[in-house]
Amino acid sequence: MAANTTTVNPLGVHAGVWVGDWSDDSARFAIESSAAIGYDFVEIPAVDPREVDVAHTVRLLESSGIGAVVSIALAEDTDINTEQAAVSARGEALLNSAVDFAGAIGADYVGGVTYSAMIKYDHSATAASRDNSLAVLGRVAARARARGIRLGVEYVNRYESNLLNTAAQTARFIRDLGADNVVLHLDTFHANSEELSLPAAVRDAGALLGYIHASESHRGLLGTGVLDFTGFFAELAATGYTGPVTFESFSSAVLPRSTSNTIGLWRESWSDPHDAARAAHAFLREHLAAS
Ligand code: MN
Repeated sequence: MAANTTTVNPLGVHAGVWVGDWSDDSARFAIESSAAIGYDFVEIPAVDPREVDVAHTVRLLESSGIGAVVSIALAEDTDINTEQAAVSARGEALLNSAVDFAGAIGADYVGGVTYSAMIKYDHSATAASRDNSLAVLGRVAARARARGIRLGVEYVNRYESNLLNTAAQTARFIRDLGADNVVLHLDTFHANSEELSLPAAVRDAGALLGYIHASESHRGLLGTGVLDFTGFFAELAATGYTGPVTFESFSSAVLPRSTSNTIGLWRESWSDPHDAARAAHAFLREHLAAS
């Protein structure tokens, strides 16, 4: 997002709104469509930099004049919230690869479910698994810092992690981590499930808040669910938040079955990504301007 770091509340759109993979054609469609609407950056799910044409992505970002950030969610066999060393090592390698991909495309942020697997656990996190996650992320954060990259910790609902489900838990986790380039990533969809209110979540995040996913209660079009976005943006304004705000929405019209299965997406939220992304951009601009 290097081109836009001076913008107040730069607006992003998750690539999953547009595409289900990062082939050359998908990258072109996602980046050019995002830029055409006026988004400042696109959030790209991490791919192995050895398996995609990174230079192609860089050229598209440059010619479209927008930035990029990278997201990632660990899986059961790459979990760092574990006491199993081999599984943790695979997770650390994957996180390092995401940081390297971000560095290669000029992205200054890697966020998501970086601290645990994104799965429905059948047990609580342990002190040892939490400590392991902290230790791994400390090393990954140092690697990111050397490349000028911030690392985001996105708490999710109880069905997608057993470690961080609230802003308060996440703020404590980040303070325990003790790295100055690690920020709290707040997703309104997840916060809605677990917090007293969206404004309360913003207050609990405090100065650690560094990235936002604006996502409806049903993951579809912004403003058509039960979330209090007016209260949310008013609280953001009150706390002086100037960081990125990214539209995250998923529809089975775009995502491949494998991805839909991971996030529990069983319905078509909308059919046209252009309409969804354009409406979200207007919705976010309007709410930011009003608050
Ligand atoms: Mn999210």
